[in-house]
Formats: sequence, structure tokens, C-alpha cells
Amino acid sequence: MMTRQLDRDVDQLVERDRDLLVELTTELIGCRPTYVGPAAGIRRAQSVMSSALRDAGMRMVDVPAATNLRHHPLYVGVEEWADDFAGYEPGVHPLVVGRVDVDPALPTLALSGHIDVEPVDEQEWTDPVLAGGRLRDGAVFGRGASDMLGALAAYTVAVRAALRLGGPSVNLEVHSVPDEELGGNGTLALLAAHPAPEYVLIGEPTSMRICEATLGFHHFVLDVEGRRTHMAESSGADSAIERAAAALTAVATTRHVLADRIRSSPGFAGYDSNPLAIGKIIGGSDAAVPPLSCQVEGVAFSAPAMSTGDVRELLAAVLRERGPEQVVPRLTRMSFPGNPPSTDRRLSNALSVSLRSTGGRPEWTGFPSPCDLRLYHALGASGVVCGPGDLAQAHAPDEHVEVEALVAFAKVITKLIINFTADNSSEEVAP
Ligand SMILES: [Zn+2]
Repeated sequence: MMTRQLDRDVDQLVERDRDLLVELTTELIGCRPTYVGPAAGIRRAQSVMSSALRDAGMRMVDVPAATNLRHHPLYVGVEEWADDFAGYEPGVHPLVVGRVDVDPALPTLALSGHIDVEPVDEQEWTDPVLAGGRLRDGAVFGRGASDMLGALAAYTVAVRAALRLGGPSVNLEVHSVPDEELGGNGTLALLAAHPAPEYVLIGEPTSMRICEATLGFHHFVLDVEGRRTHMAESSGADSAIERAAAALTAVATTRHVLADRIRSSPGFAGYDSNPLAIGKIIGGSDAAVPPLSCQVEGVAFSAPAMSTGDVRELLAAVLRERGPEQVVPRLTRMSFPGNPPSTDRRLSNALSVSLRSTGGRPEWTGFPSPCDLRLYHALGASGVVCGPGDLAQAHAPDEHVEVEALVAFAKVITKLIINFTADNSSEEVAP
């Protein structure tokens, strides 16, 4: 059980590392570890993380490169997303794993985060210089500040503080993984070659809300065929474009079905985001010639308990009922389910206690996006998503994270890892 004195010691030690936390976050942003373009940014950022974890007192673990990842049932087929990714090779980017061994009889808790960030267009930012990492008005600005380089930096500060105060009460790992923004093959590469932890915390930006469930993501394609005719002879039914328009209208009716299914899932009662987008249409080359084929592509977010098969069937059913004949939805391998909460609530309870002792008021909700939690979950870990910063501005211009939020997160994580295997189940019970 954490004493008041230990709480104060944690707060003091983390406060002393405030500048280090800001510097490390800014340095990681400055590496520009975007998932597109040259891999040098990710390699640089991983080497910064590796040094920081070693300095904090962790033993670095060599994870062998996973082979045949494409044949793994949980592999995400980035190649099917767009031509830009035709040359995608899984397992190329380095994985960084730090470990503190406490007792082989105890479980392992992993603090997981993705090192890759979305691309950035500086010109859209209020001040282009902010995109590359700057401290301004009490916040660290830059691509990846909240999603999620700030959380990775905070893990290192937390590990350092915990080790100075007698160490974690659990075998501890930090996982810094690439390729999350592309669907999660970095975490898959790690878990294919390294034992899955019993527990995992993922510091995605949740504004410090405790999220135990995540949404699924599905990339669908409608291949619509037409019939070759002279314009003067053709009817709407011959044109693949007009048939595609009818298919689009049918598919759009699933938007409210998906939203209802999400809202009725535990933690998502307040869900008010859009779960369906149709972002790509390819067809035709001559304004006077009804084309023979047209392709429509979109994405759907699904409720935590829905499978990929459930989503395929939902789309197929509305197309059978309302769409043109013979249009069957195809889900690419860039599709994966979400995850409902684990039955083991020990980690989220302990997190809630640590939040409270740092002056926070624990709030429980679902994570309204996909994330790597589903992979850990599928391989047997119980987990939770909780981190500093706001998801709404994570991929947008002027992405930032408040320094206070980063420091608070580092304190919470320090208390969590010192306190985790103490019996705290009587103190807090998740709703
Ligand atoms: Zn993220």
C-alpha cells in the first residue's frame, strides 16, 4: 500500500525531472519519426528511447526480428491500403524493449507506446516552427507531442523515479514500437518474438481517462461492374458509376447502425463521432462513356465486440436490400476488430488509485479509436489505455501536450508501478 510519504516522495522526484521530461519529449519530436518517407527518423527516435531507458536503469532486451509476419493471423495488410504502401516491409523498423526483473513469480506489466507519428504539414500550423518540437505557453508542441511521444518520455521518467524509491513491485517492461499508425504491425512483430506481458498500459491521448475497450477498424472495397454501351443506348443500370452511387447510398445507411452498436457498448454511451467514411472512388475516363467498372473504398469503425465478419455481413446486408445487384463488399487485410474490456480489472483499479493520489478524478470511458491494445489482448494480456493529451487534436495542426499533464502522467505511472502488486482491490472498484 502506498503511504502518503511515498506519494510525496514520488511527486518530488518527478518534479525534479520536469525539464528532462520536456527535453526528451522535444528531442523525440525533433527526430521526426513519421511512418512515411525515410526510416531514419524512426531509427533516430528509437535510439533516443533506448539510451533514455538505459539511463533510467532498465536492461535493454534484444528482440529477434519476427519472420513470416505476413502469414500471422493478426497481420494488418498495409499493402492493400494504397499504392504508396506497395513496398511496405514489416519488421524493418527497430523495436525497443527495456526491462526491470523483480521476481519471476510476479506478473509482467508493460508500458507500451508507439514511436511512429503522422506526417506533418508545417504550413497548416499557427507557427510552422512548432511542428518540429517547441515548448510554448506551458505546453510542448509538435507532431507526436500527445500521440504519443510525450507518454514514452514520461515512462522513462517514471521508471527512473520508481527505481530510486525502491523499485517497481512487478516485473516491468517498456515497449517502444513502430508502425502503430499503420495498424499495429510493430506491436505484432514484438509479440511474435517476445513473451506477451500479463498486463499492459498504453499511453495514447485519452485526457487521462481510463479506457478498457477500443473500437475496430475496417477497410472495405466495393467493386462495381457496368456494361459497355453507346451513351445514347445506355441506361443508368449500365453505368458502373451510377451503380456505384446507388451502392454508396446503401452503405451510408450503416452509419447510424454502427454508431448505435458502439453507443450500446460499455464505456461508449457518450459516443458522438462518425463511424463511417467513404474516401475514395475510382472510375471512368471519358465524360461520354459509361465505364465498365468503378471502385469505391471506405472505412468503418466497429463496436468493441463486433468481428470483421460482423462488419462484412452488415455491409453485405444493406447492399442486398438497398443496393444495385451483384455488389458484394470486400474487406481488405487492413481490417481488424476492437476489444471489449478484459475480465481482469486489477490494472485499471490500480491506475485509478494512482490517479486519485495525484489529485485526479478517475473517469472511465471507451477509447473511440483503434489501438494496439487489441493485439496485447488477443495474446492474453489485460490492458488499459490512458495517457496525457487530447485525441481530438492528435493528428491535427498545433498538436501539443500540456507540461502539467505530462508531469502528472509521470507521477501516476511511477505510483502505479511501485504499487501495482500490492492488494488495492478493496480501495477501488471499476464501474
Ligand atoms: Zn496513437
